[in-house]
Amino acid sequence: MSLVTDSPVWRPFTQHALQPGAYKIAHAEGAWLTAEDGTRFLDAISSWWVITHGHRHPEIMAAIRQQTETLDQIIFAGFTHEPAEALARRLVEITPEGLDYVFYSDSGSTAVEVAIKMALGYWRNRGLSRRRVIAMEHAYHGDTVGTMSAGARSVFNAPYEPLLFDVARVPFPGRGAEQATFDALEAFCRDGAAAFIVEPLILGAGGMLTYGAPVLAEMKRICETHGVLFIADEVMTGFGRTGTLFACEQAGIVPDIACYSKGLTGGSVPLAVTMCRREIYDAHYAPERARAFFHSSSFTANPIGCAAALANLGIWEKADARARVAQLAAMQAERASRFVDDPRFSAVRHLGTIVALDLDVAHSGYASTLSLDLMRFFNARGLLLRPLGPTIYVLPPYCVTAGELDGVYEAIGAAANQFASRAV
Ligand SMILES: *Cc1c(COP(=O)(O)O)cnc(C)c1O
Repeated sequence: MSLVTDSPVWRPFTQHALQPGAYKIAHAEGAWLTAEDGTRFLDAISSWWVITHGHRHPEIMAAIRQQTETLDQIIFAGFTHEPAEALARRLVEITPEGLDYVFYSDSGSTAVEVAIKMALGYWRNRGLSRRRVIAMEHAYHGDTVGTMSAGARSVFNAPYEPLLFDVARVPFPGRGAEQATFDALEAFCRDGAAAFIVEPLILGAGGMLTYGAPVLAEMKRICETHGVLFIADEVMTGFGRTGTLFACEQAGIVPDIACYSKGLTGGSVPLAVTMCRREIYDAHYAPERARAFFHSSSFTANPIGCAAALANLGIWEKADARARVAQLAAMQAERASRFVDDPRFSAVRHLGTIVALDLDVAHSGYASTLSLDLMRFFNARGLLLRPLGPTIYVLPPYCVTAGELDGVYEAIGAAANQFASRAV
């Protein structure tokens, strides 16, 4: 297997001293990546959670090609274009009722930065000094300084710690411990916080930790009682990943602000939106320029990205996209259930199209390089899996077949035999 090693590229989340090489992918299609030398990898994590229907969905590729015939980037202040207008109207229709305004940016991190800035602007423009942000233990909201501040403190952001702003932190609502989360949230809300930001139903980078829809609904109720803005970071959960189009639907809640990115274009090209209720837009609407929302990305509402997103929404309009997600969810549930009583694993969890389980490595001494060793083990078997520490998760594109999934779980079983403390 040929690895690119001599390269000026500095890759993300990579310790180059431990991972000197990278596979050079020449072709992507459906659930598969093919390297230059012909080696194939099943993309069982949807290329870092972005690909939804599958790589290079024909309708999305066609929409991108067609859009390049008429528009590239267009300044978005004082000017607009049909792809952005049409997409905004469609997003208002399909997202939870009440999210009436759409602010465009270009990544999940910027969507969250925008959400936090909107929330603070809302309070400031109303003449109230609410500034505190509440976030959840183990949260991940992005890698910019603001989003790292809302995210969990860890080895990933330790060097920047002095720059991160302080947030109020509620404990993760583990099963049976939900009341502690509610009590902490209530106390911070009573103190007059500006907003609570949370990943609905599943914390992604924090370890694919799940909690129930009733917990999400109760957290929303607490925020509402105290007038604290509720920000749903649906960057990972949006567009079918949790079994419904949006995770908030399962709790029957409408956030005050919602962030969408990864699956917005089916994962094909970068685009993000932050959507909000009318009151938040209205708080910035005034004759004074100083009350405007001062944020812009150079590539705001990129027409090609908007065209890709419109094509993606077109795919969701057809019944078979939702049927496909339901079918994948059922296939995943069935495979997850096989590991429930397996002593090599703990905390087997399933939510929609996602399965996660923790390898029991309590006394193995693999701790620091375990995820790298596992990754190499899977790569050598033609599988793209990237465990988060001992947590192995399967988050495939929706086009994955039952046979392909079986291959993934066979490899996970084989990995457990090699790495788990209680290998069989
Ligand atoms: C990936 C992710 C982000 C950051 O998105 P980027 O596009 O990588 O900046 C934010 N929030 C959540 C929940 C994510 O999973």
